[in-house]
Amino acid sequence: MPMPSYPIYCYTDECKNLAQYKIAARWSDGVVSELKTYGLCCEDCLATWFARGRESHRKCRLIPGETLEEPGIYRLERGQRDQTLTRVAELESGLSGPKAKAE
Ligand SMILES: [Zn+2]
Repeated sequence: MPMPSYPIYCYTDECKNLAQYKIAARWSDGVVSELKTYGLCCEDCLATWFARGRESHRKCRLIPGETLEEPGIYRLERGQRDQTLTRVAELESGLSGPKAKAE
């Protein structure tokens, strides 16, 4: 689905910023592949929503044949389809938590 052309706001209650990022994981059942969206958020709320996405990902139960990649951070761009969103890997590694850094 193409992104709507009207402004999209951060999913955090009380947050009035425009959403800049999408937290999503690529899901597939072997035939169809799509981005499963966990949240849309601004830069300030990114860490919260990324953590929430990873939590949902851990709880997700897949049926045989389904695959779900680790959640990623995608830069939202007006008018772009999910398939063409840019994944921002450097932000993900920065938010992976102290455990990843200590190793
Ligand atoms: Zn926000």
